[in-house]
Amino acid sequence: MDYQAILNEIVDEARAFLGEGRVASYIPALANVDPRKLGVAIETVNGEQFAVGDATERFSIQSISKVFNLVLGIRVAGDDLWQRVGVEPSGNRFNSLVQLEYENGIPRNPFINAGALVVTDVLLSHLREPNAEMLSFVESLRCSSIYYDEEVAVSERETGFTNVALVNFMKAHGNISNSVDDVLNVYFHQCSIEMSCEGLARSFLFLANGGVVPGSGERILTSSQTKRVNAIMLTCGFYDEAGQFAYRVGLPGKSGVGGGIVAVIPDVLSIAVWSPELNPRGNSLVGIHVLEQFTTLTGMSIF
Ligand code: GLN
Repeated sequence: MDYQAILNEIVDEARAFLGEGRVASYIPALANVDPRKLGVAIETVNGEQFAVGDATERFSIQSISKVFNLVLGIRVAGDDLWQRVGVEPSGNRFNSLVQLEYENGIPRNPFINAGALVVTDVLLSHLREPNAEMLSFVESLRCSSIYYDEEVAVSERETGFTNVALVNFMKAHGNISNSVDDVLNVYFHQCSIEMSCEGLARSFLFLANGGVVPGSGERILTSSQTKRVNAIMLTCGFYDEAGQFAYRVGLPGKSGVGGGIVAVIPDVLSIAVWSPELNPRGNSLVGIHVLEQFTTLTGMSIF
């Protein structure tokens, strides 16, 4: 399969859709990103790499970090984690509060904000330095010099009133053990991680490889845990658009409001796209289009 030719063709054609979405505007660091940025990177389990456009430029990974958060949470807490957070699609916006009230402070899944905040609380209970350990964990996925954008982390804190409400509400229901401020500090730092498409494709490759990092051979998750993380990405990775993403793209994946999306084809490859303009559901408009074209033209998906 000539991935490079396919990517070139898809990206050329996808540029026609630029201008149809809107860049996230709730903090200056995201509002000021050039909306025409567009990059794609592929990494295969055989060690091949392909890239096109702005694939080496770092951007704010935002909610893509919820996957790293979950993987670390599973590593430190195992199945106990699932007493605090569910695995069902929410069908609601990523930062919705309503469901939490009638479900007694137990978030539907780890990829909506409420669920990620609970997993962050679990990390705080198990790790001495969760912020530093998160960075070294991502670096262990063959990514060098991972860092937080402190300006983004501060703006997230200044504007994140809904996240503050979510943690407080769950604390009231006994589903947060640590201090609200500590949970928010770690969560907002995760949102502020900067990575490129190339780094994201590389760091997600273990999820396409049964839980083992190709190259280093390090096992991050068991194959069963890897199946579960991929299943949750498929059913919950795109909030109230998860069904559309599965229907159009047919792959497990995760998006962030920085405009990034990462998806995996088990046993084959990982692919990351960055295009900052979002659709009304908060997912990259061109990013979804690129991935839809990729699985359509290659005939490769999990279905
Ligand atoms: N920083 C954003 C928040 O916590 C991340 C949301 C996202 O990427 N969907 O609300």
